[in-house]
Amino acid sequence: MKAIMKVALGAGNVEVRDIDEPQVGDGQVKLRVKAAGLCGTDLHILKDEFKYIPPVVLGHEVAAEIAEVGKGVSGLEAGMRVTTETYFASCGQCRYCRSGQVNLCLNRRSIGSRVNGGFTNYVIVPAQNIHLLPENVDFQAGALTEPLACVVHAVTNTPTVFPGDVAVIAGPGAIGLLTLQVVKAAGATVIVLGTNADEHRLAMAKQLGADHIVNVQKENAEQLIADLTVEGLGADVVYECAGAEPAAQHLLKLVRRRGRYVQIGLFGRPIGWDVDQLVYKELVATGTNASVPSSWIRALQLMAEGKVQTKPLITHQFEVTDWKKGFDTFEDKTGIKTIFYPAS
Ligand SMILES: [Zn+2]
Ligand SMILES: [Zn+2]
Repeated sequence: MKAIMKVALGAGNVEVRDIDEPQVGDGQVKLRVKAAGLCGTDLHILKDEFKYIPPVVLGHEVAAEIAEVGKGVSGLEAGMRVTTETYFASCGQCRYCRSGQVNLCLNRRSIGSRVNGGFTNYVIVPAQNIHLLPENVDFQAGALTEPLACVVHAVTNTPTVFPGDVAVIAGPGAIGLLTLQVVKAAGATVIVLGTNADEHRLAMAKQLGADHIVNVQKENAEQLIADLTVEGLGADVVYECAGAEPAAQHLLKLVRRRGRYVQIGLFGRPIGWDVDQLVYKELVATGTNASVPSSWIRALQLMAEGKVQTKPLITHQFEVTDWKKGFDTFEDKTGIKTIFYPAS
């Protein structure tokens, strides 16, 4: 079967290789991949900016059909439509594993970076990682369960938003557009910020329920937010989803005293950020790393209820043999979300 693989350490070293179909082990499930989302992490692995063990099949955002179940697996059978959590293994013994914060286990190994992932025909995962896709969620929409689970974790596991809040989201990429919908579902008024390069993404934000969209290179967000908030004090909560220094600085201005600052995007380097504002404004600042099992359940519920739409975010679709074209859509920022299918 053809697979998009990181074949060696160092920048580059991604290619399509022919590998053997994997065998299912005890307690595991063999998935026939139907759609797999391209993520920033895959790009970071391409550029050698994220830990991985080569040679490894990339891709961790998987929607699939169960092909086969291993010994000792109950409740799952061939043909079921599913998605899978990404941790292939965690130590199970550390403070984090025991507290249900598996995402923070120092010894976790995830598919698509340390264990073979989903940019191919078949992938093996532990049975406990499987979630059934709701009937109204097809494979394409289902492939975005993983990024949605990450967003749900970011927004809810440390509670960041409350009904009646005015929330500002910077960066209308896939993560920003998912954050918008989760925050909206929590009962906030949502303003999405972008730049000239984001015009079509801002339009998408509006379509997905943003109360206001602002191109910060053309319009003044400060005035709008002052008009929308009690006594013009500023936003109750701000989410940085762009991984852009100017956005992080801007949000620090827009958030009110005693407000909440949530960092979801990655900058990939230290940035200039005025930490004194945490003091003056008594801000609560939180970050977020991947997801926990409970955020998958909530993500699927939001999709089942139609409160979050993932499919409109898909702008490009390729077979794995066209891996370069897919990765390029990310690099040149033409797309929002790119999906890979197994080679036909
Ligand atoms: Zn991802
Ligand atoms: Zn652990």
